[in-house]
Amino acid sequence: MKFDPASKIQDTWAFGEFGGVNPSITDSSTYTFLNPDKMTELFDHEIEGCYLYSRHFNPINKYLCTALAAMEGTEDAHVTASGMSAISSCILQLCQAGDHIISSSTIYGGTYAFLNNFAPRLGIKVSFVDINDKSAVESAMTERTKIVYCESISNPLMNIPDFEMLSKIASKNKAVLMVDNTFSPMILSPVQYGADVVLYSMTKFINGSSDCVAGAVCATKDFIMNLMDVNNGACMLLGPALDSLRASSILKNLHTLHIRMKQHSQNALYLATLLHDNDVKVYYPGLPDHPQHKLMSKIMNKQFGFGGMIAFEVGTLKRANRLMVLMQEAKVGYLAVSLGYFKTLFSAPAHSTSSEIPEDLQKQMGLTDSLVRLSVGLDNDIERIGQKILECFKKLDK
Ligand code: PLP
Repeated sequence: MKFDPASKIQDTWAFGEFGGVNPSITDSSTYTFLNPDKMTELFDHEIEGCYLYSRHFNPINKYLCTALAAMEGTEDAHVTASGMSAISSCILQLCQAGDHIISSSTIYGGTYAFLNNFAPRLGIKVSFVDINDKSAVESAMTERTKIVYCESISNPLMNIPDFEMLSKIASKNKAVLMVDNTFSPMILSPVQYGADVVLYSMTKFINGSSDCVAGAVCATKDFIMNLMDVNNGACMLLGPALDSLRASSILKNLHTLHIRMKQHSQNALYLATLLHDNDVKVYYPGLPDHPQHKLMSKIMNKQFGFGGMIAFEVGTLKRANRLMVLMQEAKVGYLAVSLGYFKTLFSAPAHSTSSEIPEDLQKQMGLTDSLVRLSVGLDNDIERIGQKILECFKKLDK
């Protein structure tokens, strides 16, 4: 049956207790008890509708978690103070010294730095592989492999992994398939294809207004309970709690995500096609010549399109930098990192969001310093933006 993340979220509608249409913000770090026995009981395990302390759980954060779990098709979810804290907590929850992780080599620079620099300090080994190369993933597998890690649309080269293939390899070896779905909420539902844990930087499309940093983990009830265990839970003990004011604003924005994703995708497909037709080398899964176009067409939730992120080659770093200045002057958007904002944002990943990845590995994965990444905005008249970009290209060589 067709999976519809937007309707799933609507079915989790949270009631505004005092007559308002939105649920109230829980402005409390701690909660009162009439009976000390209940407090003891709550320390031992979660009791539905009962709250102890806001680093554990709090009502408004729970509403957001319920909506995210519904969107992802998971039993449960947990929200965190950043995407990085969601990623690092889940990794630390599953791995200890001597364990091993297989990671896609094309991932966000911060995640790469965590896996390449930080995890080894704790005795955790990581192999970076081409995640689309089945035999490379299989041969990297060891008895101690606990996680196969990838991004659903990889940052910044827009590769799409085959979740079913990865899930088979991971589960055969009792490893967990962990997918960062930051680039494609609603568009891809990795759990429907065998992923075990889905991670988000909600800083991006999910929140969509570039006014806060936040993250999420969508997984089984057991996995989330383990993350929140008072004795051993990585989220509980590292403590990246999301503030309730932010949880409330993100929940409100989540209810327009389906409309925004459609518009981001429609605009991105238009620009990708326009640039491609003007002989620019474009990376966008919606283009028929993208290496995983067929795979993505098969697994995507079609109504939301191929996503709002495109990348393209400009030839040299100097030209890339000049193009971005010209685009900013022409009001195409802003020269800024991050994504999912209503305005188009652009940056050169090799020297910004992927700068943590060493030059030789960047080369190996096909990431050049002349690659420009665009998070395409929600512009009503995208043809006008397209013409502006072509004019900037013309000015480049003058
Ligand atoms: N995952 C991806 C794909 C990202 O692009 C980013 C940030 O750019 C992150 C994770 C980290 O998220 P945050 O900045 O919310 O910690």
